[in-house]
Amino acid sequence: MARRKHAELRREIIAACREMNALGINQGTSGNVSARVEDGFLITPSGVAYDEMAPEQVVEMDLEGGHRGDQRPSSEWRMHSDIYRGRPEAGAVVHTHATFCTALACLHMEIPAFHYMVAVAGGTNVRCAGYATFGTQALSDTMLQALEGRRACLLANHGMICFAADLGKALALAVEVEALARQYWHACQAGEPVLLSDEEMATVLERFESYGQQGDDSER
Ligand code: 13P
Ligand code: ZN
Repeated sequence: MARRKHAELRREIIAACREMNALGINQGTSGNVSARVEDGFLITPSGVAYDEMAPEQVVEMDLEGGHRGDQRPSSEWRMHSDIYRGRPEAGAVVHTHATFCTALACLHMEIPAFHYMVAVAGGTNVRCAGYATFGTQALSDTMLQALEGRRACLLANHGMICFAADLGKALALAVEVEALARQYWHACQAGEPVLLSDEEMATVLERFESYGQQGDDSER
């Protein structure tokens, strides 16, 4: 990939970070964002305010944990690296401390099939990964388990993480998962949400394959 493409991606990563804070799905220097490049990925530096972040500060990493330049990569580079290693469809990763995802994660609760849109994360629920200290391989290991067959999960006592083909889609998925967490939270305040059956969710997941402008009309 040409350096020019890297420069563009660095700017897009910073824009995605500023947007996640502006959208209210993250705050301060919490969270981190990355995008895949040909032999690794570009990731936000650790502990730098997004409004002050310059494109040169975004760190280039390979998939073996090595990085270029004098900036320290996000403390969560292991989670990003493990997603790129294990999930070839991942082109970008977004990790946030979104309020309602975090609230559920502090209760070690998953988001079950209370709403059909849960399928947006790839399955019948959005799991909550077990607790491990931030920045550790243990956290990445438990995250990978929770992401099996999914593109998003909650992280116990911490937040959420998700991935998609590109930055725009990953950010949109983070917004959607936070909306689901908020809806589920509110529904739980009023009673016990009625869950959709596995059978209904299988139908929804199938319809998702051709939803919107994808797929061919004969599938509808
Ligand atoms: P970094 O600033 O190191 O990316 O850390 C933020 C975070 O969310 C840690 O889990
Ligand atoms: Zn975090």
